[in-house]
Formats: sequence, C-alpha cells, structure tokens
Amino acid sequence: MTDGCPETFLVMKDNQAPSPSAFTNFATPNGMARFHSILPLAALIVACTSATSSTHMAEQTPAPTTHGNNPYYSRTDTAPLHVSDAEWKRILPDSVFEVARHANTERAFTGKYWNFEGLGTYYCAVCGNALFRSDAKFASSCGWPSFYQALRPTSVRYKEDHSYGMDRTEVLCGRCGSHLGHIFDDGPPPTGKRFCMNSIVLDFVPEGGK
Ligand SMILES: [Zn+2]
Repeated sequence: MTDGCPETFLVMKDNQAPSPSAFTNFATPNGMARFHSILPLAALIVACTSATSSTHMAEQTPAPTTHGNNPYYSRTDTAPLHVSDAEWKRILPDSVFEVARHANTERAFTGKYWNFEGLGTYYCAVCGNALFRSDAKFASSCGWPSFYQALRPTSVRYKEDHSYGMDRTEVLCGRCGSHLGHIFDDGPPPTGKRFCMNSIVLDFVPEGGK
C-alpha cells in the first residue's frame, strides 16, 4: 500500500453524522468524537488519483475561519512564528487546533474546499501564510483539497511521518509549523506531486478579495 490519503484518526464536527458501519464512535470529554477503524486499513484508505473527478463543484465561496482573537494572523508577515501549543489552544477553534497542532485529519469529502473551484489564494488558517494558488489545485478523487505545488518553496516545510505503520511525508506551514496534510508522488504534471490538505487549516481568499 503505497498510495493513501491521511490518517486513521478522523476529526468530526459535532454536527456531522457518523459514517456508516465502518466506524465505532468514541466520544471524548471535549465533545470531539474520534472514529477508530474496525476494518483493515485498506478499507479506510480511498484510492487517490489525479483523474478528473465527476463530483459537483461548490458554487459559493465557503466562509473562512475568523481570526479576530488571533494576534499572530497576518497575510503579509512571513517571519517564522514560535508559538506554544498552549497558546494556540487558547486562540484557535477546537476543530482547527486538533488538525493543526495534533495532526488529526478531517473526514474525506467533508471539508469545505475538497470540491471547490474558486479562483484565488489559499492561506494557512492558523497564521495567514500564503500556501497555494487555485491554479495549482486539481480535482482529486480522494476527498481532500489537492494541489500539485506550493505557492512559494518556503510556503511549506516537510517532515517524515511514520505513524500508523505508513511512511509518509507530512506537510507543515512554513511560517507557523502547523500540520496541513501530506504530500504524495501521484499528482499530475508538471510536478507529479499531490499535496493532500485538510480544508479546515486553509482559508480561501478569492481574486481581488480581502
Ligand atoms: Zn501557518
């Protein structure tokens, strides 16, 4: 198994219905529910290809995360941030914190950008760092927003990830170090890369938007 979209831990929003019988629900005290696979890993991992998806594209721009109480958020400052998890925990919505700082993964086909085609720029929802341009986004069947290259080489950093018995490369925000997703070698030309990202740690700003 060399292909694969993210982890076996899946982040659920409170208002999301559990997926069918493949999962067992373990509610946690903070209201976040985690789902652990009771099936072989192979059954969890959706084959991800760069083939054109037949999915319907969202028509409206999803609302970005609000940042009113986040003093570190800036779409112009590229200086690296060194902020403790305790501080991020205080600032970020729980759903963003769990993905960004605990490397959890949102469920496939549930994020706000997996099938979104708007023209513009994707920023880190934690710190505002510019990450991807929409022209590098492609329709992937894996259920997570997928890009073939980052906006700048320094937009992201990489880290080896051997969790869950898999050898993968984790993608981190180049400014704040938050977990964004993973990168795979089955993307389309010209790079052949697939940045498999979590929607919840991305903010999309349309062309000419603020
Ligand atoms: Zn960031």
